[in-house]
Amino acid sequence: MAVLSTGIQQLLRTLPKVDRVMAWSDLALGVDGYPRPVVVAGVRAVIDRLRGEVLTGVLADVPEPARIIALIMSELEFRTSRSLRGVVNGTGVVVHTNLGRSPLADEAEEAIHSVSAGYSNLEFDLENGERGSRYAHVEGLICELTGAEAALVVNNNAAAVILALTTLAQGREVIVSRGELVEIGGSFRIPDVMRQSGARLVEVGTTNRTHITDFRAAITDATALMLKVHTSNFAIVGFTAEVSIGAMAMLRPETGIPVMLDAGSGSLIDLSSYGISGEPTIRQYLEKGADLVTFSGDKLLGGPQAGLIAGARRLIEPMKHHPLLRALRMDKLNLAALEATLRLYRDERRALASIPTLRMLTMTGGQLVRRADTICRKLRRAIPDSVSLVKHPGESSAGGGSFPLLQLPTTLIEIRIGVSSAQQIEAALRRPPVPVIGRIHHDRYLLDVRTILDRDLPALSNSLAEAAKRCCETVR
Ligand SMILES: *Cc1c(COP(=O)(O)O)cnc(C)c1O
Repeated sequence: MAVLSTGIQQLLRTLPKVDRVMAWSDLALGVDGYPRPVVVAGVRAVIDRLRGEVLTGVLADVPEPARIIALIMSELEFRTSRSLRGVVNGTGVVVHTNLGRSPLADEAEEAIHSVSAGYSNLEFDLENGERGSRYAHVEGLICELTGAEAALVVNNNAAAVILALTTLAQGREVIVSRGELVEIGGSFRIPDVMRQSGARLVEVGTTNRTHITDFRAAITDATALMLKVHTSNFAIVGFTAEVSIGAMAMLRPETGIPVMLDAGSGSLIDLSSYGISGEPTIRQYLEKGADLVTFSGDKLLGGPQAGLIAGARRLIEPMKHHPLLRALRMDKLNLAALEATLRLYRDERRALASIPTLRMLTMTGGQLVRRADTICRKLRRAIPDSVSLVKHPGESSAGGGSFPLLQLPTTLIEIRIGVSSAQQIEAALRRPPVPVIGRIHHDRYLLDVRTILDRDLPALSNSLAEAAKRCCETVR
């Protein structure tokens, strides 16, 4: 065991014990209202942390009781606040999977509110006064918006793919191009999903080039599906060839084999007039001959977590009766939000104006310059002098595995706090009740105005003020 210096031993002796701190009358005043076991655990955590700092030489003096009490109060606040909380997304990644993907439209939030605290007609047919289907609330809407004959929704797109493969291809073969055996965020890998569903994967073509003749040659009596997978989060460039949905569908008359598409993000409206192009809509995929398309509710669609399935009735009907559906079914809150979001799509202009994901993706460079000016002006009124804001041009991305190469011009606000480093600012902004998540580039801490919502502004200025306080304390 290392011998502690007498200075450190001395300091450790002056560090108050938990029991003594608990007896401080100034502490009792502050912690009134917190359950005693929580207070004891909080006090112990703070004392342990101080002991650690003494041992590692970080602390040269035991803090005054008032300072220890302040540390305890902040520890208690941290311990009793909710783990899952709202944050300000300053990353510029619009569909950010780690930050909850799509923020909901007001209409969707309202719909959740209206069914969450009371009862609802989730599975009750109000027309006939008998048991109904939870899927009925959105099936018609999805058909209307995509032109599909039938539709179904499940928990997420991964569930949609598993349900489709299990129902339609268990024990049989599914043909996929080698260029589309993708992994999306670690736990979703096409070969693994295939194995899980009990379907046999038949890989055809090469990494960069696959031809329709490869598909034709792989078809046997055991073939259940031809599957196309959207290469969501990467792009193959150079000497490439992929087989389109249209080409796959052309084999159907002679083979009778259905074409399924995992569209990943999946868009209901054409965004090419906003510089976001190369992505057919779900309706277009179906028109080109896809028999079944699955896509996420919380990516480009801008709704809640959901997996939407649209396509031929003869393929979707068996899924509705598969026992797996019960395990993958969507809950009422997400269903309410999905219905409200889909309703907005009935009027494209309304969808673009009210669905935050679409609104953020379609903001122009000019709009973002003006937005940055407004945000800076509002923030400057509320934040301390130690914080300065500097605007820079930059780029944002769509995220959510959609348009991996797309760079949207944006305006960034650099945050400077005294002499603090970008890393110190980043850490300080993660601590407030509403944390702020930005990005560091070339030692600058940056917030992208594209993903900062209007409703974030009061929290953003509070969090900046709190971070400034924290930064100044550490520097001192
Ligand atoms: C995102 C994605 C998934 C998974 O969707 P979730 O809704 O997250 O389950 C599956 N396939 C593709 C191609 C994707 O892009």
